Amino acid sequence: MRCPFCGEQDTKVIDSRLVAEGDQVRRRRQCQACDERFTTFESAELLMPKLVKSNGTRVPFDEQKLRSGMQRAVEKRPVSVEDIEASIHKIQAKLRATGEREVQSLMVGELVMEELRKLDQVAYVRFASVYRQFQDIEEFGQEIERIRHDSRKNDKQLDILADSPEHSES
Ligand SMILES: [Zn+2]
Repeated sequence: MRCPFCGEQDTKVIDSRLVAEGDQVRRRRQCQACDERFTTFESAELLMPKLVKSNGTRVPFDEQKLRSGMQRAVEKRPVSVEDIEASIHKIQAKLRATGEREVQSLMVGELVMEELRKLDQVAYVRFASVYRQFQDIEEFGQEIERIRHDSRKNDKQLDILADSPEHSES
């Protein structure tokens, strides 16, 4: 690290501590030539990857779009705003953690489904039905069967399939 005062390349770290809840390292440095002290901050470069759509175009990740999609899925369901925000946070962290500059936009949909599945079965089916309709109809059928099967254990969830957003919004 070059000294900002005299330009000397040889500077010594005299103190180092974690800041910003451990996301950054603050280093106190001293120049070996002029003895001036200065501070540097280092953090891992974790950028949100661009999304590659099925038609090959690249679009920036859009947090608001993700949020509105998830909110639509959980409409009138017992899912708190905090739960949705926590899920959005997790999805973004997973995308950053890939370390890739670009990921298939498909991956975002899969991550959303993974989160919704944990939060609420109805919201999960709503989202999955819209998301997967042009992709893998057979897999979606299997998913419905799985949920129907689970629902027999819980009568309250039997109306799942009649409760799609298309019908309730009109
Ligand atoms: Zn210096």
